[in-house]
Amino acid sequence: MGDHEAAVAALREQYAGLPPDAPVRLGKRTSNLFRFRPPATGPRLDADRFDRVLAVDPAARTADVQGMVTYERLVRATLTHGLMPLVVPQLKTITLGGAVSGLGIESASFRNGLPHESVREMEILTGDGRVVLARPDGEHADLFRTFPNSYGTLGYALRLTIDLEPVSPYVRLRHLRFTDAADCCAAIAAIVAAGSHDGEPVDFLDGTVFGAGELYLTLGSFADRAPAVSDYTGLGIYYRSVREREVDHLTTADYLWRWDTDWFWCSRAFGVQHPAIRRVWPRRWRRSDVYRRIVALDRRWGLTARWDRLRGRPAQEAVIQDVEVPVDRTAKFLEFFHTEIGITPVWLCPLRLRSPRAWPLYPLEPGELYVNVGFWSGVPLPPGADDGFHNRRIEEVVGELGGHKSLYSTVHYPEDEFWRRYHGDAYAAVKQTYDPDARLPDLYDKCVRLK
Ligand SMILES: Cc1cc2nc3c(=O)[nH]c(=O)nc-3n(C[C@H](O)[C@H](O)[C@H](O)COP(=O)(O)OP(=O)(O)OC[C@H]3O[C@@H](n4cnc5c(N)ncnc54)[C@H](O)[C@@H]3O)c2cc1C
Repeated sequence: MGDHEAAVAALREQYAGLPPDAPVRLGKRTSNLFRFRPPATGPRLDADRFDRVLAVDPAARTADVQGMVTYERLVRATLTHGLMPLVVPQLKTITLGGAVSGLGIESASFRNGLPHESVREMEILTGDGRVVLARPDGEHADLFRTFPNSYGTLGYALRLTIDLEPVSPYVRLRHLRFTDAADCCAAIAAIVAAGSHDGEPVDFLDGTVFGAGELYLTLGSFADRAPAVSDYTGLGIYYRSVREREVDHLTTADYLWRWDTDWFWCSRAFGVQHPAIRRVWPRRWRRSDVYRRIVALDRRWGLTARWDRLRGRPAQEAVIQDVEVPVDRTAKFLEFFHTEIGITPVWLCPLRLRSPRAWPLYPLEPGELYVNVGFWSGVPLPPGADDGFHNRRIEEVVGELGGHKSLYSTVHYPEDEFWRRYHGDAYAAVKQTYDPDARLPDLYDKCVRLK
């Protein structure tokens, strides 16, 4: 704690010393954002001293964690006590602060909500240079509730206390196949309502859609024993196993990182799923952060775009998004998606808020069951269409179906619609209190204008 306090004091000093008109950039080693801004030219706010788990309290089932700790490190620290965070986003280098100020989701979200809903308190460096302790009630409750989905535009979380839950050593998986999206969504609703399937408790639930007529739900149940465990960090590839097996077992750690090794399925873009390449691709590079760096370099130099032009192929629009749609309208969304966008596979992840109150900047309805639909690929642009064509269409359809779109990737809403959807009035009041001189960009400027 002494070290943490010294790091906080140093950061405050550094922040106070930044030129007041220079854009502030959080200096982190990794990022999982998918909005590529021009490289930063101004000074960095150095966050390197905020990457430690300060304490795990097995009796209280809580952890005290610095804001830039990756989930990889956090999970390693908690699993040694037989505990895990209530929701562990799938990518190893997502940080706790990133998942709370952006959003996170995983297959426990149908019972535990989103990562910010298991935060008990947060120490935040605010835009006006104060360090405040925000809790669900008390003086800074407004900041606590507005922080999720604020993406570092109100301040930076430096330390958080979060809830943990007990784990078993293994997770038993059942992959259920569906040939119709409506049946699959009805099964999601039934499993969530019961918390079980065929008499067996369900601790984790997500899904993979390979096409309009081929959908799978994967049900995970904690287990104390396993007849044999699979390993998808080697030559085997997890998302393919969903189609090939009905039952499987993983260690709990391997279950939590099952999607990281191949960045869901996106590693295929680099050839890593071809057996000859996979054999020589170093195991330590089979990780989402490695692929993300390659994509960032490709975007910076425009390599794929140039290659497509040379070969006379149509320009591609990156359609990298996660959206939340009410469960009873998810089949309709998938129908639109298969017809007009056409990316496969697609990830499904049911979620229901843990909190009885809505969170202002991402106003999901308490008690309502949503399905997160995730899709990450390029889609050819029709002749004459500009970049944003497909993404804007998705935004419209998600809105029509009563859904919400997360903001970690490109965003195309006009400003008035954006503020209507993300509760601009609540945001403006809190921004005025904690960042009155606008040292940090506002949410629209950051997400849409890439400032
Ligand atoms: C292909 C893909 C798939 C994804 N799938 C999932 C998924 O399945 N589940 C999931 O949970 N998420 C998923 N994400 C999204 C990811 O969780 C968010 O982008 C998250 O915000 C990234 O966290 P990070 O720690 O890498 O933050 P960064 O990328 O470093 O930062 C994200 C934003 O948060 C701000 N920020 C970072 N740290 C802090 C802090 N301590 N305090 C305040 N603000 C901060 C930054 O300024 C920035 O605006 C996916 C992203 C991609 C690209």
